[in-house]
Order: sequence, then structure tokens, then C-alpha cells
Amino acid sequence: MIIDGKTGPWEIVIGLEVHAQVISKAKLFSGASTEFGAEPNAQVSFVDAGFPGMLPVINRACVEQAVKTGLGLNATINEVSVFDRKNYFYPDLPAGYQISQYKQPIVGEGHLDIDLPGGETRRIGIERLHLEQDAGKSIHDQHPQKTYIDLNRAGVALMEIVSKPELRSPEEAGAYMRKMRALVRYLGTCDGNMEEGSLRCDANVSVRRPGEGLGTRCELKNINSIRFVMQAIEYEARRQVDVLEDGGTIRQETRLFDSAKGVTRPMRSKEHAHDYRYFPDPDLLPLVLDRSWIEEVRANLPELPDAKKARFVADYKLTPYDASVLVAEKENAEFFEVVATGRKDPKLAANWVIVELFGALNRLGRDIATSPVSAAHLAGLLDLIENDTISGRIAKDVFGFMVETGKDAATIVAERGLRQVTDSGAIEAAIDKVVAENAAKVAEYRSGKQALFGWFVGQVMKSTGGKANPASVNEILRKKLAG
Ligand code: ADP
Ligand code: MG
Repeated sequence: MIIDGKTGPWEIVIGLEVHAQVISKAKLFSGASTEFGAEPNAQVSFVDAGFPGMLPVINRACVEQAVKTGLGLNATINEVSVFDRKNYFYPDLPAGYQISQYKQPIVGEGHLDIDLPGGETRRIGIERLHLEQDAGKSIHDQHPQKTYIDLNRAGVALMEIVSKPELRSPEEAGAYMRKMRALVRYLGTCDGNMEEGSLRCDANVSVRRPGEGLGTRCELKNINSIRFVMQAIEYEARRQVDVLEDGGTIRQETRLFDSAKGVTRPMRSKEHAHDYRYFPDPDLLPLVLDRSWIEEVRANLPELPDAKKARFVADYKLTPYDASVLVAEKENAEFFEVVATGRKDPKLAANWVIVELFGALNRLGRDIATSPVSAAHLAGLLDLIENDTISGRIAKDVFGFMVETGKDAATIVAERGLRQVTDSGAIEAAIDKVVAENAAKVAEYRSGKQALFGWFVGQVMKSTGGKANPASVNEILRKKLAG
């Protein structure tokens, strides 16, 4: 995206750091549970509480999750990686350091293909993925003077996934987040729940004249919705353009996005890596992975969004755009496949799922898991269209009743007498009646006003309660009107 400034065009450059909470029963270096919603401080081991002399032990399940995610990002898996201590003071970080990875992360370079409107894709480079511990939570709103500390989250495994500075607009950043969320959900490595904070992101934003080198960036911290990521980037880029055009300079700093006001404001000047005094954690050996184990993990990966999308385009002849909409959530893709499998016209199934079903779910504020219309029921409805029991028009009404009642299509068609009239005798009678009652219009039509044809079709459909087979109506009507 190009911003038109007072003094010419500017380009936005964005790099995202995503923090994804790993799905695992226990924490990264302790056996304490990670289950959401427990009483404060009920899930804290001595390791998590930073007691002196306690030794961290790496959780194999978390390592496997990081490797899976790395493979999903088409990235290099490093057979040797190192855990470092990143030293800083937080009240909710009792050890006084976070165990993280710095120079030798578990996953190196890879890429993520993002889906843009119109079915296009763009490849965004991934710099690295590393494993680190989450901190606890400080709770400021339960007492007027005190801050409470809940260490349940302390030590939970996070994956930090760092992109290259290759995103060029808020829309691309949004598409990147959506794709990342889909990927980790397909992999089962993170639940992607942004409201609960399982997936959050820092956005690094700079601007430059097209063709110039990278500008100075600001880092927007801890944004927890895709909409806010896009808003924050847009605001920040325009702010930087204004500063630069007024002859100012951008200071590298960390800023917070205020979602209520829609603005970013400074939090602190940007810290440098040396401020953290990183050093290899002496309590942990380098993490060494077995090549054959990595290959085993690779062989057991599920079908991922891009592969599924390609298959939907090839097997069901969908447009890349429709396919990308359907694969965005695994559950939606599975629902679609139940409806589409074995159908003459799978495109019809895609239209019904995307337009009618998603439309209805949207209005109801539901998702596919709580859909009032099951995949089998929707398939049943499409069967009735394909075997000419009902027209596409009537099918929309039937679908409305299915959403309301949860009944299957055949039952609704039978109960309400919506079966299509294909009997040409009955259609002919209806046409004869319309023709007889509208002599003036017939004369107009015959004197050349061809556009009236649609009006006649409408009248016949109306008189049959919409149940006449449209193809037969067209055919017989043409003959009758020809005179
Ligand atoms: P740090 O750990 O200090 O935040 P990194 O080098 O890990 O620094 O970079 C963090 C993120 O900043 C990466 O996603 C990277 O793509 C992005 N980034 C680096 N330089 C720029 C820039 N000039 N403009 C926008 N984003 C940038
Ligand atoms: Mg950073």
C-alpha cells in the first residue's frame, strides 16, 4: 500500500512477531498443568515460581509442537538449538529471567503464503521460530492499592514466530495473521484463540520512499485481534509519514495501541539485545534433535490449508478464492467436503456453503459446530435440487425453514407441499390462464416488446407458488406467446 503524503508517496514496511501459546498438557520446563481457568496460583511448580536450586526439564511434547509448526512453515528445523536466559525484571517473572532462545533457535528460515482478495497469494518470509516461557499475570483491578500476581501462566510454552519485513499493507498483515492462525489450528499446535491471548502479535512498522532502504521502525506491542493489528499499523504508518514530512525523525521505540482511541503512543524506547544480557542457560543442555524423528513428525503432518486449497481447486473445480474461504477453518472445509462429495456440481455445494450457510451462521452469531443445518441435511437439500424435486428458488425457502426448525429438506418439502411441478399439463394450464387474463400484454409482446417475457414468467411462477419447473415454464411459454 502506498500512502500519498504531502511531499510524495511512501511505502509501508511491516514485520510481525507472533506469540503462539503451545497446546500441551504441561509447561515448557515443568510438569504443572496448563489448563485454562484454574484458581490463581493453583498450577505452579517450584520451577515456575523461580525457587533457587530448581532445575528445568524440557517438555518433549512442546518441542514436537514447535517442530510441527516449523515444518508447517516450510522452515529449516535446526538439529541443535540452545536455550538462553533473557534477563529482566517483571513482578510476574519470579526467576528474574525468561528462558528463551536467541542465537540458535529451534526453527530457522521458512515461509507462509498469504491469501489476498481475488484469490491471489503472496509469499512472506519467516525469519525464525523459537521456544520460550510465558510470564505470569499481574492483576491490577481487584484491589485499590494492591497488585495481585497469578503464576498459572508462568512457564507455559510459547512459540515466537518472526516474519521478515516483507508485509506491505495493513491488509497483508491481516491476511498473514489469518493464515498463521489457520495453520497452527490445522496443526493442533496452538488453539489460535486471540481473545484469550493464546495468539497475540507485535507489529513492527516503518515507512520509506519507494525503492529506498528500510526506514526506522516502531514496535507496536501485544495486539490481540486481527482488526486491531490492521488499525494499529494504519495509524502508525500515517503518524510516521506526518513526522517525516514535517522534517522530524522516527525514534526506534516500543509503542502501545489504544484500541478505544485508535491511536498508538510511546511506551518505552526500544531496548537492545545486549540490554538483556543473554547467555546460555547453564541448567539446560543444548537441545539435539534426531533427523529421523524430524522426518517422522513430517510424515505425520495433517493436510494443511494450502494443500487442501489446491485439492479443492483441482477436485471440485472451485475458484482459488472460494477454496481459500472454505479452507480457512478446518471444520468448514470438512463440512463442505461432506456436502460436495460425489456431487455432479460441487461448485453448487460451495455456493450454498459460502453464501447461504455462512450467511445464516453470521446472522445467528453461530459457527459451524453449532450450525442448525448439518452437512448431511444440506447435502439432502442439494440432492433435491439436482434431481429436480425443487427449484433453486424454492430451495432457498426450504433452507430458511431448515435453519428455523433443524428438520431435513425432504421433510420440509413434504410437509409444506413444495415439490416442484414438472407435469407439463399443469404448467400449460397455468400459462393458458395468464395468457387469457392479459390479452393486452400479449399483444404488446407480439408486437415486439420482447422484454415482457420475464414478466410472464414471473406471473406463471406466482400463480404456481413458485413451484413450477422454470425450464418447462420457459419452454411452454415461448410456444404459447409465439401464438
Ligand atoms: P527485535 O527482537 O529487537 O524486535 P528483530 O530483528 O527480531 O528485532 O526484528 C523483529 C521484527 O521487526 C521482525 O519481524 C522484522 O521483520 C521486523 N523489522 C525489522 N526491521 C524492520 C523495519 N525497518 N521496518 C519494519 N519492520 C522491521
Ligand atoms: Mg521484538
